[in-house]
Amino acid sequence: MKIGVLTSGGDAPGMNAAIRAVVRQADALGHEAWGIHRGYQGLLEGDMEPMPSRACANILQRGGTVLHTARCAEFHQPEQRAIAAEHLKAAGIEALVVIGGDGSFRAAEVLQREHSVACAGIPGTIDNDLPGTERTLGFDTALNTAVEAIDRIRDTASSHGRLFLVEVMGRASGMLAVHTALACGAEAVLYPESPDDSFETLVSGLNASWLRGKRSSIVVVAEGDTAGRAMAVGERLKRDYALDLRVVVLGHIQRGGSPTAMDRIWGSRWGCEVVRRLDRGERGFYVGMVAGALVAQPLSRVLEPQPVPPGDLGRMVSVLAR
Ligand code: ADP
Repeated sequence: MKIGVLTSGGDAPGMNAAIRAVVRQADALGHEAWGIHRGYQGLLEGDMEPMPSRACANILQRGGTVLHTARCAEFHQPEQRAIAAEHLKAAGIEALVVIGGDGSFRAAEVLQREHSVACAGIPGTIDNDLPGTERTLGFDTALNTAVEAIDRIRDTASSHGRLFLVEVMGRASGMLAVHTALACGAEAVLYPESPDDSFETLVSGLNASWLRGKRSSIVVVAEGDTAGRAMAVGERLKRDYALDLRVVVLGHIQRGGSPTAMDRIWGSRWGCEVVRRLDRGERGFYVGMVAGALVAQPLSRVLEPQPVPPGDLGRMVSVLAR
């Protein structure tokens, strides 16, 4: 069997580990892996080639994705998806492994439904916002990168007795923000799914902390739908409360870098697992992790609501900031 593999949407550290495992497990079971470049964009253009085991030398420890990635607006159109299915058929590719986030999985779900392409997903997004899995590739690396950066900011914040707003990634998800805030002892965290994301709560929290004698504070802000949220919050705090503060947007630093051991291990485990399942004739699933165990979910689960950060983690941030 020829098995195609692509990476799609936002790149995430650990994607290379998954590519390598797909290619080498396929090889070990007598299948042939094909690399599809630039996600669905490359699929539409027929930009694909056989990917031998040796093509994966030295990629395990590298961030990003050697197959490159893209966002591809055309893939929302049924006639374009028909072209993609034709390219796969012409190359004799019977199964497609998609490494990406919820958008990429939605695309795989609809491609399989419309054209009977056997699809399988590996969660790859630093947002960690897929239903049916507690982990996605890149989250652990991005989290550690953000925490390391904020540790540095903390040094200067406490030296100057200053307030810092630090924006982390997470489009519609506060998963990265809440975990980062907890891990770096932030004074507060603002994120989209928060039960109380109000400006007033933030200000009264900062006031209380000042009265307790704290002279420096770190507030972690999830970027939300539009990047630049921390800047907007900072402007308002300066204008209405005359606070001396600095805003830091961590930005794409969070996407890059060598994947952590955990992202490499799960990329490898998931890559092997999808190929073993495809080898057994399974299709229309994505792998994940629940309570420490490797699981598989039907691809249609991606249409369910996205997970939200556990509420108690957000509360814990303010309790522990005392
Ligand atoms: P991620 O996979 O990281 O969530 P996106 O949401 O940008 O990233 O999705 C990646 C790509 O998947 C999109 O650029 C598009 O080509 C395709 N895609 C996303 N959602 C759909 C959909 N509902 N139908 C068809 N294709 C989709």
